[in-house]
Amino acid sequence: MSAITNHMPTAELQALDAAHHMHPFTTNKELAEKGARIITRAQGVTLTDSEGNQILDAMAGLWCVNIGYGRPELAEVASRQMRELPFYNTFFQTTHVPAIALSSKLAELAPGDLNHVFFAGSGSEANDTNIRMVRTYWALKGKPSKSIIISRKNAYHGSSVGSGSLGGMTYMHEQGGLPIPDVHHINQPHWWAEGGEMSPEDFGLARAQELEQAILDLGEDRVAAFIAEPIQGAGGVIIPPATYWPEIQRICDKYEILLIADEVICGFGRTGNWFGSITVGIRPDIMTIAKGLSSGYQPIGGSIVSDEVAAVMDSAEFNHGYTYSGHPVAAAVALENLRIIEEENVIGHVRDVAGPYMKKKWEALADHPLVGEARIVGLMGSIALTPHKDSRAKFASEAGTVGFICRERCFANNLVMRHVGDRMIISPPLVISTEEIDTLVERATKALDECYAELKKRDLL
Ligand code: PMP
Repeated sequence: MSAITNHMPTAELQALDAAHHMHPFTTNKELAEKGARIITRAQGVTLTDSEGNQILDAMAGLWCVNIGYGRPELAEVASRQMRELPFYNTFFQTTHVPAIALSSKLAELAPGDLNHVFFAGSGSEANDTNIRMVRTYWALKGKPSKSIIISRKNAYHGSSVGSGSLGGMTYMHEQGGLPIPDVHHINQPHWWAEGGEMSPEDFGLARAQELEQAILDLGEDRVAAFIAEPIQGAGGVIIPPATYWPEIQRICDKYEILLIADEVICGFGRTGNWFGSITVGIRPDIMTIAKGLSSGYQPIGGSIVSDEVAAVMDSAEFNHGYTYSGHPVAAAVALENLRIIEEENVIGHVRDVAGPYMKKKWEALADHPLVGEARIVGLMGSIALTPHKDSRAKFASEAGTVGFICRERCFANNLVMRHVGDRMIISPPLVISTEEIDTLVERATKALDECYAELKKRDLL
């Protein structure tokens, strides 16, 4: 077979892709008919496809390319590390400098006494670690009955058997025998969709108090931990009412339930602080990290653990680990990424420049006839599409029909926005400039206008 390169015609590449590549979260048969879009290169916030289109990536890949594409420093570090020590494990009483340096740096950056890191290759793997870690923690403390992990409906924590069970996506549970035992889901703090006549504040409190009720129903002696994303990402960028998190923290403290903050999206500047936990004001016992840890340049994730949890876990062997836990190349690249975030004040840029600028423009989209609410924290935002703003009505068409149309209009206008049902979401690279934000919002507005016209034409409003 001759070499397959960027220079081949798009149709040929698409045919080979359809013949051999099974895409995640995709109906591959449908995609094969349509042909996948082939991304060939990227720089800053802009993707180039095989047809030469220049596309503004308002999703930073999969919420991960925090420092933007094309930073040569990361490539140089990876190359250097591959030459020096491309792989070694940390299982059998050995370690290496990249793992030492990255865990030390994360301990410095993480809030409170989160000073210990267990590495994984991804967010899913890290959450699988967390399931086994919190159950083992309680067993080591003489309370093996504390094994239930409470999570939330419409949460996303990964797609392995364990992390997919923690997640609250019913369409995922329908495949492959999920959830595993001893995972319990409570309702999400999604006021727009589920708040009814309640004020957001009352609703936030009520949804948080479902945690307390679940602990009482299940029994305090059965519950190990509560896991949640500070701001739900894949569920549709759902920003909880301000009353929600303080009440969750109160309940976790009262019943001594370990709090796991899944920072896979919120971490590393996304919300305008190093971690979403800081933004929402919580003190987790464990944080899940991935994505922005390396800005997606290398696959790496992990669990950052408190002094107390680590002290208990350190008293016995934890029969757990991955070949690529603390992979030296991934760790070295992550460390360089953190250096860039810190030295270039990327988080200050989100907090003081790009975030406030985007917020003003993004929230103004709520004036569009198709948009119910437009909300954003730092640089993760969402808009709810609705046929009727005041009643927060849903479309009569199957959920996601309108969102899909809108996403197609975004693509046609060289903008990557994602849809979750009939919500549109963004999470651009954190280094996005104000000019690029102007372009993003211009293209989004045009896509919304075109979507609106199409809905009228197809009688979907
Ligand atoms: N947790 C959260 C909050 C996520 O958003 C994701 C991925 N979107 C994961 C975990 C899983 O991470 P990965 O895809 O790296 O396994």
